[in-house]
Amino acid sequence: MTAGEATIAATTTEQRRAALEAIAAEVRTCTRCKLAQGRTNAVPGEGNPDTEVMFVGEGPGQTEDAQGRPFVGRAGELLVRLLASIGWRRQEVFITNIVKCRPPGNRDPEPDEIAACAPYLQRQLEVLDPAVVVTLGRFSMGHFRPGERITQIHGTHAPAPEGTGARDALAYALFHPAAALRSTDVERQSYDDIARLPRVLAEARSRRADVRATAPADAPAVGPELLTPSPTNPGDDAPTLF
Ligand code: URA
Ligand code: SF4
Repeated sequence: MTAGEATIAATTTEQRRAALEAIAAEVRTCTRCKLAQGRTNAVPGEGNPDTEVMFVGEGPGQTEDAQGRPFVGRAGELLVRLLASIGWRRQEVFITNIVKCRPPGNRDPEPDEIAACAPYLQRQLEVLDPAVVVTLGRFSMGHFRPGERITQIHGTHAPAPEGTGARDALAYALFHPAAALRSTDVERQSYDDIARLPRVLAEARSRRADVRATAPADAPAVGPELLTPSPTNPGDDAPTLF
């Protein structure tokens, strides 16, 4: 399969796991943009194939490039603390980035690199079909909440554009954890913002259930397990989410 090809909706945990691994294998050998030249390891992303929540950061840093895993440096440690503040663990969500390879010297990813890498994110979204996409920082926000300013919209949600691969999902904007490491004000805001995420997930679940209940008969099939209460998906009434 090529990076631009649509991924057929996977409907079981094992199918989703295999589909995610197939995408990851392509990412690890990808040379679609110039970031391939400077990387040690590409960082496809990782997490629970049954999750309802995908976190999307900017791009791998030095530690991530060295290990081939997302958010394993200092920003990742803060992300884990933020998740812990609402009783979530990183293994329960899926974590990836807008660009899968480290920009040299941690410079901003460039538009051509973001465009080249977007099909991988799109396919990850199609496989996981998350109810909420949490954007971490400006570049991820720019993809899912175009034309906005992070200082204005952090801690708010809006429907994620369908062209991204998200379907019937809400995009929730957070500051980047690296920004929170540089400012105690941003750090405090980040804890306030993530505290609202469980309610956003509850709203996203009921919103997509409504949308999909009234969808036309030829709409793409929805994996019923995503809407059925389970240990990792306790249903709309659950006060905590995993
Ligand atoms: N910053 C990011 O945006 N992504 C990572 O994976 C690590 C740090
Ligand atoms: Fe490929 Fe994305 Fe890495 Fe560029 S950043 S080489 S498009 S995986």
